[in-house]
Amino acid sequence: MDKIILTDVDGVLLDWEEKFKTWIMRQGYKFNPTYDSHYGINERYGIPHGLGLQLVEKFNSSSDFESLPPWRDSVDYVKKLATEGWQFVAITTAGEHPWTHGLRWSNLINVFGEGVFKSLHVLPIHGDKSVELKKYKDSGLFWIEDKLSNAELGIKLGLQPLLMDAPYNKDYNGAIRRVKNWKEIYSIINS
Ligand SMILES: [Mg+2]
Repeated sequence: MDKIILTDVDGVLLDWEEKFKTWIMRQGYKFNPTYDSHYGINERYGIPHGLGLQLVEKFNSSSDFESLPPWRDSVDYVKKLATEGWQFVAITTAGEHPWTHGLRWSNLINVFGEGVFKSLHVLPIHGDKSVELKKYKDSGLFWIEDKLSNAELGIKLGLQPLLMDAPYNKDYNGAIRRVKNWKEIYSIINS
């Protein structure tokens, strides 16, 4: 079997939320801590319905989007896995702005280095990740995600999803294995 790890980007490899928070507050929106456990940005920042997608697309095509910091301990372990022959396929719903793919690709290379990523697939915001995942149907490959519905696609498609722990998935108690960081992912992959 190919040594490929399928992975989401935001909330797994890169910390989108922290940078977005600073950016959206500069646009005049305020973080509402009551909704800290919500995934949707509309509740989190009091963004009027219908405007959220537009704002995310704007951020995801800005220079800030190119310099997102690494997520938790991702750098050390992703690099380690890469030196052990693993290649990463990143699947992200960052949106279809023509700049987004290039910005994200350069961010990933700057943070993790050359030769780590086999490919990057940028889908529409709220897009269906099974479009890419189905290419690996029944492969049993690892699929790293923080969004529960996307992790669940992995089950349906015969992959091995690992759910990255986050406030918005904390209530989940099902069959998908939860991980807190890449150190745990590393040990699962090597067990
Ligand atoms: Mg994510």
